[in-house]
Amino acid sequence: MKVQCVICDKIESIEDDCLRAKRLRNRKLNMYLCNPCHERISKRTKERHQTGNFHLYQNKRQKSSLI
Ligand SMILES: [Zn+2]
Repeated sequence: MKVQCVICDKIESIEDDCLRAKRLRNRKLNMYLCNPCHERISKRTKERHQTGNFHLYQNKRQKSSLI
C-alpha cells in the first residue's frame, strides 16, 4: 500500500501485510512517518528522556551529598 509521511510528505510503499500497514488500516496508527523522520523523532524523544534522567540523577546526588 502507498503511504505518505506526515512530516516530509514523502510517499512510500509498504508491504500490505506488515504490522504498520495493518495498524494504518485499523486506524490504530493514523499517521505514517518515513524511516528518517521516525528515527529523528525517536532520537529526540530518547535525548529528552536522557536529559530528564540526568537531572533526576543529579538532584539525587546533590541531596545525598548534603546528608
Ligand atoms: Zn518523512
